[in-house]
Amino acid sequence: MRIVVKFGGSSLADGERIQNAAKKIAALRAAGHQIVAVVSAQGDTTDDMIAKAAQIHTDPPKREMDAYLAAGEQMSAALMAMALQKMGLPAVSLTGAQAGMMTDGVHSDARVLGLKNDRVAQEMERDNIVVVAGFQGVDGKGDITTLGRGGSDTTAVALAAFLKAAVCKIYTDVDGVYDKDPRKYPDAVKLDWIGYDDMLHMARQGAQVLHDRCVELAQIYQVPVQVLSTFRPGEGTFITAFPEDFSQI
Ligand code: ADP
Ligand code: ASP
Ligand code: MG
Repeated sequence: MRIVVKFGGSSLADGERIQNAAKKIAALRAAGHQIVAVVSAQGDTTDDMIAKAAQIHTDPPKREMDAYLAAGEQMSAALMAMALQKMGLPAVSLTGAQAGMMTDGVHSDARVLGLKNDRVAQEMERDNIVVVAGFQGVDGKGDITTLGRGGSDTTAVALAAFLKAAVCKIYTDVDGVYDKDPRKYPDAVKLDWIGYDDMLHMARQGAQVLHDRCVELAQIYQVPVQVLSTFRPGEGTFITAFPEDFSQI
């Protein structure tokens, strides 16, 4: 099966966590799956970078901000590829531009348009685990763009859609999607399944667990999404059109 996995910033916060995430990728590969891994910047890297840019410019030019922030995810991708290679697995890291992640030119809030080359497919043909830097793309001018805060989720679902993956597994710091933010509400209830429409509504209301555009893309391309914990066992939450869909994944 072709699977896209995505690890968020807290899942990659230090070397040990990168290795832990690499082990999850290794286990999926050992089970016979073809893996594309999308990574976020480590821990608070993006926030720290934004603070650093603010020391230089009170209203940083968006084009330069995108070029700067995209580096956070690029560093994670290279580190993840190193971790996989250390485990004896063939892996290659790609920036959004190298992966051909085409977007419009709206800096800091770009929309994904498509994949403009087949580099990811070629690397999969070579039996590589392809590690793609999340949150970023390239516009028609060849400039680096970013997809908005939380945008690595969208990179992952976009790749799953364009590469026709069977599922997009979003590994994060909660063990699934809840009916409300479990960090704020201790009585929040975990859902085993949620439909695209309801998930889209929650994401648009600001539920951080998934970037709203990732849910839009998942619905348009009918990508089954699974939200699960990097740190705890469990199947998490499936997001599909109908509840019966996920039993086939
Ligand atoms: P990542 O770094 O993995 O992308 P995020 O911090 O972006 O993780 O998203 C996960 C967080 O989303 C959780 O820690 C949780 O506090 C928050 N969250 C908000 N609403 C929900 C919800 N309905 N279900 C699950 N998590 C939610
Ligand atoms: N690193 C970016 C952010 O913090 C993108 C992401 O993590 O999805 O918003
Ligand atoms: Mg997120």
